[in-house]
Parts: sequence; structure tokens; C-alpha cells
Amino acid sequence: MKKHNFYAGPSILSEYTIKNTADAVLNFADTGLSLLEISHRSKEFTAVIEEAKTLVKELLEVPAGYDVLFLGGGASMQFCMVPYNLLNRKAAYLETGTWAVNAIKEAKLFGEVDVVASSKEANFSYIPKGYTIPDDVDYFHFTSNNTIYGTEMRFDPDVNVPLVADMSSDIFSRPIDVSKYNVIYAGAQKNLAPAGVTIVIVKEDALGHVDRAIPTMLDYRTHIKKGSMFNTPPCLPIYSALQTLKYYKEMGGIKEMEKRDLEKAAILYDAIDSSKIFVGTAAHEDRSIMNVCFVMKEEYKDLESEFIEFASSQGMVGIKGHRSVGGFRASIYNAMPKSSVEALVATMKEFEKKH
Ligand code: PLP
Repeated sequence: MKKHNFYAGPSILSEYTIKNTADAVLNFADTGLSLLEISHRSKEFTAVIEEAKTLVKELLEVPAGYDVLFLGGGASMQFCMVPYNLLNRKAAYLETGTWAVNAIKEAKLFGEVDVVASSKEANFSYIPKGYTIPDDVDYFHFTSNNTIYGTEMRFDPDVNVPLVADMSSDIFSRPIDVSKYNVIYAGAQKNLAPAGVTIVIVKEDALGHVDRAIPTMLDYRTHIKKGSMFNTPPCLPIYSALQTLKYYKEMGGIKEMEKRDLEKAAILYDAIDSSKIFVGTAAHEDRSIMNVCFVMKEEYKDLESEFIEFASSQGMVGIKGHRSVGGFRASIYNAMPKSSVEALVATMKEFEKKH
């Protein structure tokens, strides 16, 4: 039976990415060697990382003065690298979920942190609005997509200070005005590649302004200077990332991905909104087009585990909600085909008919 992969991450990747990665594991760039056993300094691999960097710049229209890095350590490492490199005295953070909470915790080790707003009191079911950002902060940090709670900021906020964003779960799902940012970072394991690489877009002028010493590996300048090759980079995820980037380009670029993502999300949200038994958990205006969170209405609550069972019998994988929200979460990243979203909707409708 066909499986429909709704995992939140690591998650679905395009067939193009998986097939080309598998081929390279067997024979990388006609070298007769596996991608797994080739030197990162070989001319074949150097070409991969260079092309990946160029494609990120092209697809996201990254302006001059920015570099693109491929680092290890996950997005969680960026929670500390960002303040290490950028927070001299004070930074503003928006608290919109677990990942933002983790980022705030790390930033507090480096200076004053002004949490300008939080939706914690409502279990992060909406994006706070109407907050003010002090003029004297080094940057404003936000999480563009809250993977666990299914809320998203699909815009680049207009504020008076440079932005920093964790875009781990929605990068490449909309065009970005990169010029507003000092740093954009994203763990690869949603819209880009298998786990193991983190993409960081950094404004070079923003570096070198903190008073502290920075350990070599945690200093963005180290990786800029060495083209992400200061130490051995995660070669396989970077190769896969390149395949995904090529796929996006072939599909028509990021605007096209956004169009498809909006269409898929609308299909699922329409089904939820017109349902007798399901209800969405996120505020309508802040709903994520990547992670769709929903539960059963109060009077049907005891059917939740039965639905999970029924859905898995229909080939749906990974739709159980995160424990902090409960219910269901369908992650419908860029690589998710519309037909899988339609299959989930059909499953929901069929289940509803029975009850
Ligand atoms: N930020 C967001 C928005 C995430 O969804 C995740 C993981 O799911 C992380 C950060 C943590 O990423 P990593 O596991 O790569 O450290």
C-alpha cells in the first residue's frame, strides 16, 4: 500500500533527492567511489558545496554581502551561535513555541534578553501582535514556523533593528527579503535534506561587533573564511541538499513552491473547517502551511486513537500530534504531493461518515 509521509522531521524529501542521493552512495560523480567514502576536499565534492551555495543564493535572491554556510550541530547549535556572534548587550526575542523558548534560554547566557511578547499562556496557539521592539537591541529573533504548534509568520517583520530567524521548518516555502536579516538559519531535515546539516545565511558586516572571544568552531567568520570546510562537513546531507535545490529550481523556484504549498494547505484546512468532528488548534490568521495541527472536537475526543489507527490502516504515517498539543499534526512540506493531502482528507471524511 502507498504510504503518505506526514512526519514533522526528518520528513518527506522529493523522489529526485532520494534517488540521486542513493545513486551517489553507489557511485559518486562517476568517480567509482561512494559519496560516503570520498574526501570532502576532492574536486568533485568541492563542486557540490559550491553549487549548493550558489543555488541557495539564486533561489532566495540573497543580496551581496551575505554568505551561505553549511554547518553541523543542528538548528539547536544556532540557538547559541547566534548570540555568541551577535549579542553584545541586549537582544529582543519573540516567544512563540518550544524552539523559541530554547533559543531564549541560550541567548540569556550572553546578555540581556527582552522577550517582547509571548503566546505561552495560550499554549502557543497564535503569534503575538502589537509588541514593541526597543531601539537599543542588537537584533530581533523570531521562529518563522512553529513546527509543534502549527503557527507561522509568513512575512519578514518590519522593525527598526536587524532580524534573526529560525526558519528550520519553512525555509524555501516563500520568497524572503534577506536584506532585513543578519542571520537566517534552518536545520535541513524538513524542506532540504536528511538531518545533519544546518544552513546559515549570514550578513558579513554584522560580525565582529561583540566584545567577547568566540571559540573557533562557533565563530561564523571561521566558516566564512574556509567556505564551510574548516572541519569535515556533513557530506551526504549537503549532497542531498544540492539535489533538493536543483529540484526546486526545476519546479520553477520558490514562488512556485509557495503556490503549491498554499494550495495543499487550503485543501486540508478546508476539510478541517467543514468537519463535524475535527477542529484546528491554531488561530486562523497564523496558521502554518507546513504543519497543520488539529484535534477532535470535545464531544468526539475519545475517538482520537481510533482515528490514528484507521488513518494508519489507510497508509497515513506520522500524523500523531506532538505531545504538547495532542491530537494530530500533518506536516505537508514542499516535497509532499497534493495527492497525499487529498488521501488524508478522504480518510478523514470516511472516518467522519462512520461516526
Ligand atoms: N527550530 C525548529 C523550528 C524546529 O522545528 C526544530 C526541530 O524540529 C529545531 C529548531 C531543532 O532543530 P535541530 O534538531 O536540528 O537542532
